[in-house]
Amino acid sequence: MTVRRGQCLCGAVTFVADVASANVNACHCGMCRKWATGPMMTIEHKGPVTFTGSDNIGRFHASQSGERGFCKVCGSSLFWKLRGEDHYWLSAGAMADTSGLKLAEELFIDAKPAYYAFDGDTKKMTSADYAAFLSGGASSE
Ligand SMILES: [Zn+2]
Ligand SMILES: [Zn+2]
Repeated sequence: MTVRRGQCLCGAVTFVADVASANVNACHCGMCRKWATGPMMTIEHKGPVTFTGSDNIGRFHASQSGERGFCKVCGSSLFWKLRGEDHYWLSAGAMADTSGLKLAEELFIDAKPAYYAFDGDTKKMTSADYAAFLSGGASSE
């Protein structure tokens, strides 16, 4: 476990979590690209997250399963989470210290536009793969 600290661009929201994974996921889905201007880069974290400046967190329910958290002051994307669960995908870009982090997975690879691509070897999941993972994996641990 690594204590990871992050904050938005303006500092109105900070967070800290004891994160097990050092894997960074990139999501290429159309919603993430609109929200983050490119692929949304996150670290999956199952467990509590301690926030400061919670009043400044805006929450947008873009889909039935997910909730997107952002800073209401500066607009930074902070997390995607499963509604009603302590299961987060925390913004990798918000992290103060990125040591040890590694791009490992690309989600919704079938939705990736042709104008960019990541180098290196990553596990790639299609929209269908990811839907199956969420329905089977979200409540199993
Ligand atoms: Zn902010
Ligand atoms: Zn996405």
